Amino acid sequence: MTLPGSKYGPVATMPLPEPGWDNYKFWDYCKQHKLYLQRCAKCRNYWYYPRPLCPIDQSRDMVWTEMSGKGTVWTYTIAHHPVLPAFAKDVPLPVGVIKLAEGDVYMVGRLMDVRPQDVSIGMPVEVTWFDASDDISLPYWKPRKS
Ligand SMILES: [Zn+2]
Repeated sequence: MTLPGSKYGPVATMPLPEPGWDNYKFWDYCKQHKLYLQRCAKCRNYWYYPRPLCPIDQSRDMVWTEMSGKGTVWTYTIAHHPVLPAFAKDVPLPVGVIKLAEGDVYMVGRLMDVRPQDVSIGMPVEVTWFDASDDISLPYWKPRKS
């Protein structure tokens, strides 16, 4: 399996998430290329990563809510040294903290279709999907026009 574009090469040894009780719904939605996050029915905050209760008010009424898939780069880094051999062909690798359009909720993700030197804080991005295996699709981010 390879990432889109030959630049990235094989990723067979890429570590993948192992869905568990708290996050299997998140990964099920990702497999469908849909971005869903939990929203607390009591305080109305969105949360990422998935969790069994709200950290603000301890409510267990967490509702899976479809997100627009749009956001902006809140901050980012460029990884120059691969942590694992699976990423050796990918560096330099831009990774962003994405502030989602729905509010004060953030996701960390790989930035695609952009040269590392072209990434900037505030850059509009949208989710894109990388089918890493038959069971796991990873949400990545790519620049969007508006
Ligand atoms: Zn809450």
